[in-house]
Amino acid sequence: MFDKILIANRGEIALRVLRAAKELGIATVAVHSTADAEAMHVRLADESVCIGPPVARESYLNMPALIAACEITGADAVHPGYGFLSENARFADMLAAHNITFIGPKAEHIRIMGDKIEAKRTARRLGIPCVPGSDGGVTQDAEALRIARDIGFPVIIKAAAGGGGRGMKVARGEDDIVVALQTARTEAKAAFGDDAVYIEKYLEKPRHIEIQVLGDGKGHAIHLGERDCSLQRRHQKVWEEGPSPALNASMRAEIGDVCAKAMQELQYIGAGTIEFLYEDGKFYFIEMNTRIQVEHPVTEMITGIDLVNEQIRIAAGAELSIKQSDIVLEGHAIECRVNAEHPSTFRPSPGRIQSFHTPGGLGVRVDSAAYQGYVIPPHYDSLVGKLIVHGRTRNECLMRLRRSLDEFVVDGIDTTLPLFRKLVRNQDIQNGQYDIHWLEKFLAAGGMD
Ligand code: ADP
Repeated sequence: MFDKILIANRGEIALRVLRAAKELGIATVAVHSTADAEAMHVRLADESVCIGPPVARESYLNMPALIAACEITGADAVHPGYGFLSENARFADMLAAHNITFIGPKAEHIRIMGDKIEAKRTARRLGIPCVPGSDGGVTQDAEALRIARDIGFPVIIKAAAGGGGRGMKVARGEDDIVVALQTARTEAKAAFGDDAVYIEKYLEKPRHIEIQVLGDGKGHAIHLGERDCSLQRRHQKVWEEGPSPALNASMRAEIGDVCAKAMQELQYIGAGTIEFLYEDGKFYFIEMNTRIQVEHPVTEMITGIDLVNEQIRIAAGAELSIKQSDIVLEGHAIECRVNAEHPSTFRPSPGRIQSFHTPGGLGVRVDSAAYQGYVIPPHYDSLVGKLIVHGRTRNECLMRLRRSLDEFVVDGIDTTLPLFRKLVRNQDIQNGQYDIHWLEKFLAAGGMD
């Protein structure tokens, strides 16, 4: 096992990793920018190193500074959390060259899944169902038109290097496609420095359903059920729950099995998420994330498995300690991402938290690095904390979520708490009847007015 883990992240996920490491008896090193000197992850770690100025490019994304921090402190492993360098194959290679373990999959698998065209090709080879579309990248207008006619309009043009919902354009008919292709390519170049794009059938009313997997690279891989992340704004997840209100046990077992087998064949190491769109009883692969995800606590609440603990043990060379038959889903869990944003305009609201009171009681978990008096810096994402609630049934979970949201106090900044208080009382949400466009429509119709 490792002696000391350096956590190359900040905020609630840095705390999450720190907690898992402490439970395993492993020493922790926090890194921070000058803007985060007072942050909770710095206070709770055994040691901390300042790695640069506020701008992430020069601190949390600064690979040489992170390697130097490992060498100064003698850390023998790095956990990247999510975001920042978590899906950077070059960072994984660089750590390996310095004899430091990257707590995550092989660089090769990060590389494949980071290129969405390559990812889709690999998924198809592994027997994972995909959205119909181009076989690879598309450069010529005529070729784009031919493929679009072939699969039928509407189509969506997506960046091969995409992420965070950026660089996607929908074309509804032949007149749109040339412009959509051009815009998608320009946006992709600006956002990712790579203008490769591909075409997919645009699904009109799908749900976003993703399967959590774990593999040990030694021939074992399992799935831990699904999360339904259909409630999104600008392709960003807002509310996640598991199990999905749209699946039954046999559908779950079927898609879960396909994913577990694929990961076994790939000899995948660590935690990963295979994301699908789901429409009319069919699953369509869109991408795989080769890291721990923001919404991983949903799965932890219904399986009782500590996913970060598993990541660390597997990275240290252990075999999977859990078999597929050990995974029993109990009850229902919902996560709300509480952001420092205005609840209807979504304008970021950094600043000082005047008072902070988190809900508690049976089945309630708050993952947050915030505290009373904490100043949310303007330089990073706007997540204040995640409220995760568990109940024996979906109804019990909703009831508990409603009272937890009413208990939650964050004063001094705007947060999205009022949005969740509306959502939990909404009939469609209570019925579990929503697709990926539901939230945008709700907001456009003045749901928050
Ligand atoms: P990113 O990596 O940028 O998040 P994804 O491929 O994961 O991109 O897609 C993000 C979201 O965009 C999905 O959850 C869904 O809401 C929407 N989306 C992606 N592909 C399609 C598609 N073929 N049809 C309809 N919506 C899509």
